[in-house]
Amino acid sequence: MDFRFSNQEEAFCREVDEFIRKELPEHWTEECLYWPGGYGSIPDFEGLSSAAEEFRRKLADKGWLALTCPREYGGGERSQIEQAIFQERMSYYRAPGPGVATLIAGPTILQFGSEKTKREWLPRIARAEIRFWLAYSEPNAGSDLAAIKTSAVDDGDDLIINGQKIWSSGAHVSDYAWMLVRTNPDARAHKGISLIMVDNRSKGITIRPLINICGFHSYNEVFFDDVRVPKSNIVGEMNRGWYYVMSALDFERLVVPIGNFKRTFEELVQQVKETKLNDNMLVRDRLAELAIEIDVAYMFFWQTAWMLDRGLQPNIEASVLKLISTQLSQKLASTAVDILGPYGELEHGTRWTPLNGRLCTGYLDCISALVGAGTSEIQRNIIAMRGLGLPWA
Ligand SMILES: Cc1cc2nc3c(=O)[nH]c(=O)nc-3n(C[C@H](O)[C@H](O)[C@H](O)COP(=O)(O)OP(=O)(O)OC[C@H]3O[C@@H](n4cnc5c(N)ncnc54)[C@H](O)[C@@H]3O)c2cc1C
Repeated sequence: MDFRFSNQEEAFCREVDEFIRKELPEHWTEECLYWPGGYGSIPDFEGLSSAAEEFRRKLADKGWLALTCPREYGGGERSQIEQAIFQERMSYYRAPGPGVATLIAGPTILQFGSEKTKREWLPRIARAEIRFWLAYSEPNAGSDLAAIKTSAVDDGDDLIINGQKIWSSGAHVSDYAWMLVRTNPDARAHKGISLIMVDNRSKGITIRPLINICGFHSYNEVFFDDVRVPKSNIVGEMNRGWYYVMSALDFERLVVPIGNFKRTFEELVQQVKETKLNDNMLVRDRLAELAIEIDVAYMFFWQTAWMLDRGLQPNIEASVLKLISTQLSQKLASTAVDILGPYGELEHGTRWTPLNGRLCTGYLDCISALVGAGTSEIQRNIIAMRGLGLPWA
């Protein structure tokens, strides 16, 4: 098997790398606290500086925010491998860029949306004009997502939405909810659900902050009181939202900041060398283990892109990649804290703090990765069911 990139892919990789190094705000990579795989330290959730917004606009101008989308909808019509290359380089520099809109909503609209929906929404996503947040979870519906209760009642050309969403990452800095609602209360759980895009500025929406374990405002609870939304904002067919969201979740699980794992690991190895811990056999052993697991995650990462390019659905692979990368997120943090001892726990801002405080934040943030986008237990259930043919537990 030949794992090398083609000449075109190599050239694209160089182009992306040069662009990021030239355009990313100075010292961004070093100063950014984003922990690989963490949900609570993603810079966008705190709002971006104008320089970072400018960087995102430049990405949109290059057509890189909708890389795989067809040109007729404003995309770059590139391969999934090129998308993966872009994602790898961007995450290596911890660069702000693609989000829910481009990585989850866009591909799902492309797959299931009507022609009208595609023409109306995809170009706006490609131009980075709109941002989405994921409105799936409710106080009593997380792993058991089909238990959602938020209702959407038919009223002529509109639906009237009532209910509550929770753990809504980035809702406070987004424009639209990418939302699951119950449109048929009489149908069996997953059959009466629709997927709809809801303008955050609609009357009747209240967004309240929830502060995460790192002390950042990353997620929220959001209340919907008689919120009127045009039916034309439904993605695909009414009452088929469950099937679309299963696909959207696969897209989400493939969004792994793989390059950030490599970068953070390189920084840890550098720190070990500088602090002369590199003679310690236990330290060497733990680092070697991490190096192997990062390589394994990389293999799965490229494999899923390769499968998508061949029209194969990486359902099981998406869950495997999500599971191993989030476990890696936790192992990287705990190994680094074990190796660096009390120094590893120091916050950003002292001259003794290693990795600019990323480790201290990451140690807390890595737990979120095991829960967001479906917990590790749920990923194991999916692998057991879809991969091994065992019954759902
Ligand atoms: C940082 C973060 C960001 C998030 N962002 C968003 C967001 O933007 N939008 C959104 O909609 N949601 C978001 N979520 C919510 C997330 O998707 C849910 O928290 C997750 O699906 C788990 O649901 P729950 O919290 O209700 O836990 P529960 O479903 O109540 O699970 C509790 C425990 O029981 C286990 N469990 C449940 N069912 C099974 C089963 N069948 N087999 C084995 N074990 C099981 C779980 O693994 C878990 O350990 C976010 C969560 C976190 C932590």
